[in-house]
Formats: sequence, structure tokens, C-alpha cells
Amino acid sequence: MMAQYHALKAEAADCLLFYRMGDFFELFFEDARIAAACLDIALTARGAHGGDPVPMCGVPVHAATAYLQRLIKAGHRVAIAEQVETPEEAKKRGGSKALVARAIVRVVTAGTLTEEALLDARAANWCVGIGEAGGAVAIAAADISTGRFEIFDTDTAGMGAVLARLDPAEIVAAEGSDIDATAWRPRSEFDSAGGEARLKALFGVATLDGFGNFNRAALSAAGGLVAYLDHTARGALPFLRPPLLHAGDATMAIDAATRESLELTVTQAGQRKGSLLDCVDRTVTGAGARTLAADIAAPLMDRAAIEARLDLVQRFHDDAALRERVRSRLRAMPDLGRALGRLAAGRGGPRDLGQLRDGLSGAWTLGEQLRTLAAPPPLLAELAPRLQGHGALIDLLTRALVPEPPVDAAQGGYIAEAFDAALDDLRSTGAGGRRAIAALEARYREATGIAALKIRHNGVLGYHVEVPARAADRLMTADSGFTHRQTLAGVVRFNAPDLHEAALRVTQANAHALAAEAAHLEDLTAAALECRHAIATTADALAGIDVAAALAERAAEAGWTRPALVDHACFEVEGGRHPVVEDAVTKAGGRFVANDCDLSESSRLWLVTGPNMGGKSTFLRQNALIAVLAQAGSYVPAARARVGLVDRLFSRVGASDNLARGRSTFMVEMVETAAILAQATPRSFVILDEVGRGTSTYDGLAIAWAVVEAIHEDNRCRCLFATHYHELTRLAERCEALSLHHVRAREWKGDLVLLHELATGPADRSYGLAVARLAGLPPATIARAKAVLAKLEAGRAKTGGLAAGLDDLPLFAAAATQEAEAVDTLREALGAIDVDALSPREALDALYRLKGLA
Ligand code: ADP
Repeated sequence: MMAQYHALKAEAADCLLFYRMGDFFELFFEDARIAAACLDIALTARGAHGGDPVPMCGVPVHAATAYLQRLIKAGHRVAIAEQVETPEEAKKRGGSKALVARAIVRVVTAGTLTEEALLDARAANWCVGIGEAGGAVAIAAADISTGRFEIFDTDTAGMGAVLARLDPAEIVAAEGSDIDATAWRPRSEFDSAGGEARLKALFGVATLDGFGNFNRAALSAAGGLVAYLDHTARGALPFLRPPLLHAGDATMAIDAATRESLELTVTQAGQRKGSLLDCVDRTVTGAGARTLAADIAAPLMDRAAIEARLDLVQRFHDDAALRERVRSRLRAMPDLGRALGRLAAGRGGPRDLGQLRDGLSGAWTLGEQLRTLAAPPPLLAELAPRLQGHGALIDLLTRALVPEPPVDAAQGGYIAEAFDAALDDLRSTGAGGRRAIAALEARYREATGIAALKIRHNGVLGYHVEVPARAADRLMTADSGFTHRQTLAGVVRFNAPDLHEAALRVTQANAHALAAEAAHLEDLTAAALECRHAIATTADALAGIDVAAALAERAAEAGWTRPALVDHACFEVEGGRHPVVEDAVTKAGGRFVANDCDLSESSRLWLVTGPNMGGKSTFLRQNALIAVLAQAGSYVPAARARVGLVDRLFSRVGASDNLARGRSTFMVEMVETAAILAQATPRSFVILDEVGRGTSTYDGLAIAWAVVEAIHEDNRCRCLFATHYHELTRLAERCEALSLHHVRAREWKGDLVLLHELATGPADRSYGLAVARLAGLPPATIARAKAVLAKLEAGRAKTGGLAAGLDDLPLFAAAATQEAEAVDTLREALGAIDVDALSPREALDALYRLKGLA
């Protein structure tokens, strides 16, 4: 056995090996240690290998999925070695001592899952292959849980953006390449000629021209990926749809840093909750949620396609009754794509066929409703017919299956009555046998006079007679007609010839019925898979309708508006809002302040100043998000919006806001800023939040200054730049398309009130000290800071320099200033007292406090 084990283990060296023994998957040696620790199960030992006991642990086969889930989550790969013959077959082959043959039937990896329990219903699960050839890079991505297959042409620089968009579960690359992959396969599998042949074979075509124009990198990536999927499925290649080829410029380019900073589909902490996607998502199906995530991750550049999406959203937006009808129908629908994926991977069961039946007939009815709509938007006219056309399959499955088929086929009972006369016969034979057995029970009771006599059934004895021990003697005699089988505490069990015969009839009929059902299951699965491409198309159409209705629902909830899209670079938003911050502010009982933004050709660069916490970041991001939503085909959180298509979106946040990343943050900030200056075009949209503050004041100001100039003069893109460097406002005199804005704040009764409202012009003063007080800095420290500020400002007034005046500030002459400060503190504390609001007791306390300060 150990020899067999080691041979299998050698085949899957990078995996934990699940070695099937009876009802358990066993793990040995190091695998056992790893799994026992990860799964928190007992590590035992068995036999000996080279003199030492062999560490071992095991999981029951029926519960294996849950354990697999934890191992995969923890980043492991698991090879499943099944028994591929029965013990009887083994004996026949090699004598009584022969070992049952085992083989690895599947490698379970994060990117090749189809099991419902292992997948997030609302997220795609991409396995990605990366190919390189002739300087080009291509990324092939497959989600085998639904059969999606997509290929992206890119290059070394653009690769990160595509990967960030897909957020793959697994990345496969050729051995020896310097890609940051999770699995490596032999270089030969990424050969472009071999890849082409593999794709042609997979789709049964003589040429790939019908799918698009594949370069060598694309063939290498797709070929390598398909080979890998084949490897993990051990030859049972899952269902893949013909590949969709993405050209680089079909979507808004959004690099990884920008996605992270804008929290498009996950937050910076890696959570879906709190992201734009989470805030927008009102889809009611898993497929809809997956499609919406993909749409938001990849806003379109094709205005006609965006308008088509918007037309459909608008129809649902304007007709609330239609929207609710469609959504309630969708809500009841199973996940067609995933059910199909399981069936195609050979891991499906009766329930998956039931889901196809219900999903397809639900789609049919929805198609019927939508077909009769007057003047349907073009996208709907395109999608609605795809919901229908599975009449024969629906009919077959409806006749063949019981209303609620079980997940597992083992117990039978999923084929409906009247579908197969022979099966019905077998079942009635079985039922007749069971009735005969019930009749026997009455007869035996009468014959023996034992009223407590029962006929029972279990897995070991089959049908048998059971009597209480005290009555058993009567049946023990040779002429009683009963044969003793088993004595337990309290009961004794017997067999009898008539019972044996009747039982045989029942078990045989049952076995034949099970076999007949299994044969039907196979045929029905084959019939369904025959239509897999059409079913996948229907699933896509349902998802598209769900997304449009969900976006309409979201828009209607919060008064969003349909954006107007234009080709020239403009960006006009009236009453714009940040949907995520708005939700948070509203939930906390506050009110979100809407703001306008107008980046026209003559003022395409806005410099936004104002106090910390004043709403600068929020304003910057809300406009970037509005661009994303608009091009994803959604309404936007604004009263009015006109958006010139954005080819590239960039968002950068100054280093000190970004400590969580734990890299040399200023370096990262500068690298990312460099990327913007290199890539932003006049059609791009850039938001820069406090860039330059990750270093010393002079350096930071100098860098911020130079970056603003470069964006204004060279990139000429639309840009919102938030800064606390007041000095930058001088740039307005030199850059004609730069305008000054600030978030408003007011001091009221000594407190700072942040209005979160944008106004033109520079901020008239800095509110840093007021914010510091708001944050609870001790009064003495605030007073000291005020004195320093006064000196700085006096110095600046005299010389115009940022920190001039510092020189004559007696920094450490503490004693000299202490008195003045104390007075100041006292003054401040006095000012903070609202005499009218004090109770006598509080007034007394206040007096004591003031005395303490003096
Ligand atoms: P800044 O970038 O100026 O430091 P933020 O944009 O981070 O400020 O905003 C700070 C907080 O102020 C936000 O978390 C939010 O609670 C609130 N806020 C921001 N903008 C608005 C707004 N327009 N309306 C209401 N509250 C806002």
C-alpha cells in the first residue's frame, strides 16, 4: 500500500493527497501534519515506515467538501486519489491479497472549483493563464463554474491592471517565467502552436478565426490554461465556452492602485462590504451579481454599448411595476450557469437537472412577459429571445424529474412516475413486495402469538423478524420455521423463508429501479449538455436583465440620474454625491451635502483646498466613481451629469493616508505618480489626493507643484487635485485651465463647523488648529501651536517664504512664553463656557477648573 501511496504522491507532489480508504480519505506523513493542524482534527499514527510510525489523519468521504473548503481557503491544493475498482474486481485480478487500484481523479485548486459549497455565489472564480510571446503578454481567464472563457491582449505594463480587474483565484504560468503565479506548468504547455491545436480540438473547429484574431501570446496563454484545467480534471476537461477576446482599449483602463484607492469591488481591507459594488448591488441572482461585478470592474469605452445598457436601465427605472415583476420572477430562479457548470464537470446530480428545468422554464415565462412589451429598448429586444427556445429540454426534464430532486443520486427517487413504464413496474414490484412483507408481519404475529413481533430492515441483515428476548424461545425450535440470526440485549432476530423470498423481490426490484434511474440521469445530463451553449446564453441574458433592473432599482432608491455621455473631454456634474459615504452619513443620522463639478476645457484642473475632514477626498472620489458608474451603464448619484468618455482613470492618495500598505510609502506614491504622468491622455481623468505629503514640507510642495504643472501642460487631462499646500494656489496665476476651489468651513462659538460644501477660490485660512481642537488635543498644546502659527505667518508675510520667520522663533525659550500661554489657555477655557447653559453645580465645577488653570 505504501508503494502505491508514494507513487500517487509523486504524481501530485505540490498537493496534499487525499487517499481513499473505504469511507475515509486518509492523509499520511507531512500531509497529515499539515491537514491535521489546518483542520483541527486528530493526528494519529499507523504502522511503520522505515522504523517510524506513519503520521496519519483522515476525513469521512461524506463530509469531505467542508474539509476541502478549509484546505483550499488556507491556500492548499488537494489531489483526490479514488479507488478505481471494487475489492471484488481487485481479488479477481490479483488474488485475495490484491490491493485495490487507485488513481488521482482530480486536483482540487482554488481556481478549478465547481461545488456550490466551495464557491461564492455572487463572485466569479477565475483561473488565469499568462502567456508571453514576441514582447506581447496575454491573459486567458476561465471560470469553469460557469464556462466563461476570456482572453485579454495586453503587455507587461498593462498586465497588472487586467489581473486587478479579474482578481483571479489562481494564476498559472510557464516554469521559469518571472510572473508572480500560484502554479507553474511545463514550458511546453505554453507553446503557442500547441495552444492553437488544443483550442481547435476543444471547440471542434478547423480555424480559430471565428473567435477573433489571436496573437501568439494569446494562444500561449489559452493553451497553457486549457492544459492546466485538463491536468487538474485529469482528462475530464470542464465545459468552456468559445473564448471572448478583449482588446486593450475596449474598456476604461484602471490600474491596480486606482482600483484599490477607489474601492471599486473590494475595500482596501479586502472586503466586498463597503465597496462601490456592494453599495450599488441590488441584483437578485448570483449570476446578476457576478455580471455587475464584472461591469463595474471594467467600464466600457463604446458609447453605443453604454447607451444600450442605459436605455434598458431607464426602461426599468421609469416603469416600477415592470421592474418589480421582473425582479420577483428572477428572485425565484436557480443559478443556471453554476448548475450547468457542475453537470459539465461531471459533478452534477439530479438537483442540478431540476435547477436547469426550473431556471429554463422561469426564463421562458419571463421571456414571454418581456416579448409583449411595447417598444422594447434594443438591448431588451436582443436579450428577450435568448430567454426562450429550450422547449424540448424543459419538456423532457419536466416529465422526467420529480418536483424536488435530491442533490445526491445514490438513493434514487428522482425520476418521476409515468416517465418510464419499466421503472414504474419495478417500483410497483418493490412496493408490492413491501406490502407483502407488511402482511407477513401480521401473519407471523398470529402464527406465533407474539404481539410484539416486528419485521425490520437494516443494512447488515436486510429484512428480518425481531421479537423481545423473553418471547424468543418459542422461535428457537427447529420446527418453528424461523432461523436465528442475532441476539442483542432485549431483542432476538430471525429469518424466515417467505420473508426471505419477499425481501429478495424487494431488493432486486430496488436495485433494478436504481440502475434504471441512473441510466436516465446519464441520458438527461447528456441531453442537457447537448444544449450547453444555448443554456449558457440564456443564463447570460438573465444576468443582463437582472443587472439592468437592479441598477434601475438602486437609481430609484436614491434619486440617481441618467448620465449623458459625450465624446469630447468634459465632465459636468450637478449635485454629485459619493454613494458609499452618503449611505454611511445618512445611517449616522447626518445629511450628505451634494456638490457640483465642472471640468471643462477651460478649467480642466481643479485645485481643492480646505481643512482636513472637510470633504476633499470624498469630493474627488465621488467624481471618479460617477465616471465609473456612467461608463458601466449605470445611473449616477447626481442631479445631472454629462460625462465625456474617460479612457484611463487614475486615483492616487498621498502616502501618509496609506500607511496600511506597509511599503516604502513615499516611494510607492512617487512610482504611481510617475505612471500617471507617463500614461494619462487628454481623455483621461485623474484624481490626486494630497500627493507629495509623504515627504518633508519643501520636497512635498516642490513635487506637488511640479506634478500639477506637468498635468496641466503635458497630460492635459481632467484632474482634481486636493492639497493642503496653500502655496499651490499661486499656480492659478500661471496655468490658465487651473481653477481654485475649497471645501467650506466656519468657526462658530469657538468650534469648527465643516460644511462639506465646495466653493470657488482658495480656502481663506487653514483650520488645522480648529481640527486639532475638535480632535481633543489638550488646550495647552493648542495654545502653543497658535503661538507658533502666529510667528510663522508673520514671517511669511514679511518674506513670502513658507517657513521664513521660523528662525526668530524662540523654540525652546519655554519659560518666556509660558506665562503668555497660560493666560491664553485661561482665556480659551473662559471662552468655551456657555454661562446660560450651566447648572449651579456645573458652574462651581467650572470655577474650580479655571482656578486650576491659572
Ligand atoms: P478630507 O479629505 O478633506 O480630509 P474627507 O473627504 O475624508 O475629508 O471627509 C471626511 C468626512 O466628512 C467623511 O468621512 C464624511 O463623514 C464627511 N463628509 C465628507 N464629505 C461630505 C459631504 N459632502 N456631506 C456630508 N458629509 C461629508
